[in-house]
Amino acid sequence: ATPTSIMVGTGKGAENGILIKGAEHLENAHRLTTIVLDKTGTITKGEPEATDVIPLAGLAETELLRLAAGAEKNSEHPLAQAIVKYGQRQGIVLPEPESFAAIPGHGVEVTLEGRRILVGTRKLMQENNVEFTAELAAIEQLELEGKTVMLFALDGRLSGLIAVADTVKENSAQAVAALKQMGIEVWMITGDNVRTAQAIARTVGITNVLAEVLPEHKAEQVDALKKQGKVVAMVGDGINDAPALATADVGFAIGTGTDVAIEAADITLMRGDLTGIVAAIRLSKATMRNIK
Ligand code: ADP
Ligand code: MG
Repeated sequence: ATPTSIMVGTGKGAENGILIKGAEHLENAHRLTTIVLDKTGTITKGEPEATDVIPLAGLAETELLRLAAGAEKNSEHPLAQAIVKYGQRQGIVLPEPESFAAIPGHGVEVTLEGRRILVGTRKLMQENNVEFTAELAAIEQLELEGKTVMLFALDGRLSGLIAVADTVKENSAQAVAALKQMGIEVWMITGDNVRTAQAIARTVGITNVLAEVLPEHKAEQVDALKKQGKVVAMVGDGINDAPALATADVGFAIGTGTDVAIEAADITLMRGDLTGIVAAIRLSKATMRNIK
């Protein structure tokens, strides 16, 4: 590409909220065959709201909320913040944990008022020998609705379920349709469970779903697609996405996301919605046409 056409392309991108870090990224974007989209905060708004609070094992609802919100108060995770916000809105005073450990991709393990609390995935419960088979049907039903269900265990016993729902961004379905129209294969990647992931994927028109992918494995999945000969873009917003953004042929960060993701990416979408990817690819194609 000529320096002039690249400069024009980069400038046009900037005018449209697409910040391109280097000439090679604008050139690479027109060759993309495959786009991998993170779910939370990329396809969805990333602002989950608690929808269902289900106390179990004789625990009162307010006590479930008090303990769960106290357990999550030191977690940065959007799911944790959804529980904390819900608890605070009910006017509950949050207790301070004695010890706190975040388990990435799984949940939290906390000591609170001398009691051992776990909040997180089924896997987290399995690993700690917490029995939940009696609630499996209820959990799966909520997941089919596209909700993420967090299991709550108190001293080794399943004592509650808290479901949260995240809203899909207005333009996500439109952007996915436009990408497919361009002949690009679209994937969703998430740490969330398969049922929730597929429910969200369905609403935006994605059929290729990689679910229950641990943060450290997102980059491996991108690499596996590259090894199949695909030219792969990763789009993400989280700290978790940074290695995958760096591994991809082109990394797109959501401008409203974390600084870590923006630093790892090649192109930042300042408007925060996925139509920016479509615009970036069109810009790349136009730039390459101009120089031929
Ligand atoms: P995502 O890719 O959707 O951002 P993560 O990899 O961060 O997801 O987490 C995967 C799953 O682990 C979440 O869907 C949730 O069930 C569970 N989880 C992670 N962090 C927490 C937390 N602080 N509290 C409860 N559950 C959590
Ligand atoms: Mg995310």
